[in-house]
Amino acid sequence: MKNVKQVVDIILEKTPDNIDIDNLKAELEKEINIKEIHHVHIWSMNGESNYLTMHVVIDNNETRENIIKLKREIKKHLHEKNINHATIEIEYEEEKCNSTNCEP
Ligand SMILES: [Zn+2]
Ligand SMILES: [Zn+2]
Repeated sequence: MKNVKQVVDIILEKTPDNIDIDNLKAELEKEINIKEIHHVHIWSMNGESNYLTMHVVIDNNETRENIIKLKREIKKHLHEKNINHATIEIEYEEEKCNSTNCEP
């Protein structure tokens, strides 16, 4: 049985209490060979499964093999945080992204 706060948090699609977006970003940027992460949003639709969307900026010359490896590493890390539904958009450095200013 969920309490009122939990239900409200879910309705507002609030970031789950046990996940800190800044920490997660710092961990990923440190552990994995990526340039930058932005547009990170984490939410839960039922209080149990966590959903994530984010943009990952990589070197213009990154190889296909490395990109595949990178995505696998990111998803593994997210799994450890109980984030099992992740949508990761890969961007090259030269791309102009207009979603870089939406951090909470
Ligand atoms: Zn955003
Ligand atoms: Zn972006």
